[in-house]
Amino acid sequence: MKEKINLLNLLPSELDIKPTFRVKQIFNWIYQKYADDFLAMSSLPKNLRVELNEKYYFSSIKCIKYEESMDKSIKYLFELEDKMCIESVLLSMKEEKYDKNGKLISHKKYTICISSQVGCRSGCTFCLTGKNGLKRNLSAGEIVEQVLWIKKHNKIPYERRVNIVYMGMGEPLDNLENVAKTVKILSHNDTLAISPRRQTISTSGLAKQIIKLGKMNLGVLLAISLHAVDDELRTKLMPINKAYNIASIIDAVKKFPIDERKRVMFEYLLIDNTNDKIEHAKMLVRLLNGIKAKVNLILFNPHEGSIYKRPSLENAIKFQDYLSKKGITCTIRESKGLDISAACGQLKERNEKI
Ligand code: SAH
Ligand code: SF4
Repeated sequence: MKEKINLLNLLPSELDIKPTFRVKQIFNWIYQKYADDFLAMSSLPKNLRVELNEKYYFSSIKCIKYEESMDKSIKYLFELEDKMCIESVLLSMKEEKYDKNGKLISHKKYTICISSQVGCRSGCTFCLTGKNGLKRNLSAGEIVEQVLWIKKHNKIPYERRVNIVYMGMGEPLDNLENVAKTVKILSHNDTLAISPRRQTISTSGLAKQIIKLGKMNLGVLLAISLHAVDDELRTKLMPINKAYNIASIIDAVKKFPIDERKRVMFEYLLIDNTNDKIEHAKMLVRLLNGIKAKVNLILFNPHEGSIYKRPSLENAIKFQDYLSKKGITCTIRESKGLDISAACGQLKERNEKI
C-alpha cells in the first residue's frame, strides 16, 4: 500500500485536486473550521472525502504532556510519529479588555513559540536543547501543526491574530528550506493567514543562512541571539561563533530586507557576572550603531546542571536603562512561564527523567 501523504506539508497550489475550488474548501476545513478528519468535511462530495482519506492525513503530532504557568502560558510536549519529542508554548500577552458596559473592546493577544528541529547542533553552553546535538529536522508539516494544534485545542478562532516566534527547540536557519515553507503555508489566505510580519525567526547567527533567508524576501522578522559583544566570550557561550563571528553576523543583518516600520531584534541573554556589566552595554551600543535594532534582554533561566547563574533583576534594569538612554529600544523579556520549565528543552528534559 502506498504511504499516506501529510497534507500539512503542502501549499494549496501543491494539492492536485480538480476542480480547484475544492482545494480551497479542503484547506479551509483543516485550518479555519478545525475539522478532525476528511469524512467530516460535509461540503465535499462523499467520494472525494473517501479518496482524500485514503491518500492523505493531517495529524501527525500527539500532545503527551502540558503545563500551565501562573501567568497562563501553556507549554506543550508533542510526540512525533517516530516517537521523538518537541516543545511549543502558547503565550498570552495581554488580557481581554471590556468597556464599562461589558462589551469586549480588545481581544487577548497570543504568541505561539514553535520548534524547528529535534535537538540542535549549535551547542550553546547555556541551552538544554543543544546538549545532545541534533537529532533531526522537522518537516514543514510538523512545524505548521504545532500552530494549528495549539489554536484548535485552545479554541482560538482562526481569524484571531497570533504572532509566531521560531524560538522553540532547534536552529530554524539550519532547517531553512522547511522553515521557509512553513512561513509560506502559515501565511496563505486559505490556511491560518498569519502574515509573515507576525512571524519572527530567531537564529544563533548563521550569517550565510541569514543572507539566504533575506534573498527569499519572505517578509519575516529576524531575531539574532547575540548574547555577547566580544568574540571570545561569545565563542565560549555559543561555539557556532567560531564559524560565524560577530562581524559576519552584523554584516548579514545589514543586508537583510526589513519593513520600513520594523526593526531587527537582538536577543541578549543576561548571565550573572558574565555579560551583564555596564561595559558590556556600552559595547553593545557601539556594535548596533547604524542598525535599526531593538534589544530584548532575557534573564538566564537556570536548569539542572547549568554552570551559569541568573542575574539580579536590578542588574538587568541597569543594563536596560543604559541602552534606553542611548536611544535603543530595549525590553526585558517577562519571565513568562518560569514556573513551568520555561526555556526551550526543559520540559522535554524533565519528562525523560520521570
Ligand atoms: N536556535 C535559535 C532559536 C531557539 S532558542 C536561537 O538560538 O536563537 C530561543 C531563545 O532561547 C534564544 O535566544 C536562546 O538563547 C534562548 N535560551 C536558550 N536557553 C536559555 C536559558 N536557559 N535561559 C534563557 N534563555 C535561553
Ligand atoms: Fe540551538 Fe538556539 Fe539552543 Fe543555541 S540557543 S543550542 S542555537 S536552540
